Amino acid sequence: MASRKFFVGGNWKMNGDRESIGSLVQVLNNGEFNPTETEVVVAPPMLYVGLVQQSLRPEIAVSVQTCHAAAKGAFTGEISPQMALDVGAQWAIIGHSERRNVFGESDALIAQKVKFALESGLKVMFCIGELLEQREAGLTSEVVIRQMEEVRNAISLAAWQNVVVAYEPVWAIGTGKTATPEQAQEVHHQLREWMAAQLSAELASVTRIIYGGSVNANNCRDLAKQEDIDGFLVGGASLKPDFITIINAQS
Ligand code: PGA
Repeated sequence: MASRKFFVGGNWKMNGDRESIGSLVQVLNNGEFNPTETEVVVAPPMLYVGLVQQSLRPEIAVSVQTCHAAAKGAFTGEISPQMALDVGAQWAIIGHSERRNVFGESDALIAQKVKFALESGLKVMFCIGELLEQREAGLTSEVVIRQMEEVRNAISLAAWQNVVVAYEPVWAIGTGKTATPEQAQEVHHQLREWMAAQLSAELASVTRIIYGGSVNANNCRDLAKQEDIDGFLVGGASLKPDFITIINAQS
C-alpha cells in the first residue's frame, strides 16, 4: 500500500447553493490534512465548479461529476472535458451509479466518456459497482469485471495512470448501509488481481482502488486499514465537517 497515495474524493452531487458551498469551502480551507500523504478532490455541482476552484485552497483539486464524450456541439445540457479544464477542474467522476441507473448510461457510453476525458487531459474517478440483486445472486465479481473490461477495451495501458477506480456497491450508496471492511476488501483484491492479469503487474500495484458507499467519520478508519482500500469516494459525508476526519482516516 505504501506506493499508493491515499485518495479521498467528495461527490457533492446535486446539493448546495452559493451560501452553503461557500461555508463548505471554508471548512475545507481550514481543515488540517497532509497533502503529501493524501490526495483530495471535490466534485461540486457543475454550475459551482469554477466558483469552488477559485476559492478553494490549491492542495485540493476540483472535479466535475460527469462530462460528455465530445469537445463541443449540439448536446443540450452537457459539458465537455475541455470546458471542465477551462474552469480549472482536473478530474471527472465517470460511471457513477446514479449516471448508470438514473440516467441510463451504458457500460459502452461510460467507456467512451472515460476515453475522451483522459485523451482531453482530465484525470478520471471511474466508478463501478453491483446492484443489491446482483450481489444476492452472487454476481458481484462478474458485474464489476465486465464494467472494467469495457474501459480496458477502450483506453491504452498508459492512460490507466490517470485513472482511480472507485468501487461503489450500489446498495451501499446513500443508504447508510456500508459494505463491511471485509466485503469491500474482497472486491478490491479481486479487482487488483484482475488488473495484474489483464493490464500489468505494475498497474495493479500503483492504481488506487477507492471505496464508496455510506463512508462516514465512524467507519472510515476500519475501511482504510484494509490492504487494498486506497481511499474513498464520499457522498453525503463530504458535505459535512466529517469530511476532514475521512480525509485523515489513514493517518
Ligand atoms: P454516499 O455516496 O457516501 O452518500 O453513500 C457515495 C457516492 O455516491 O459516491
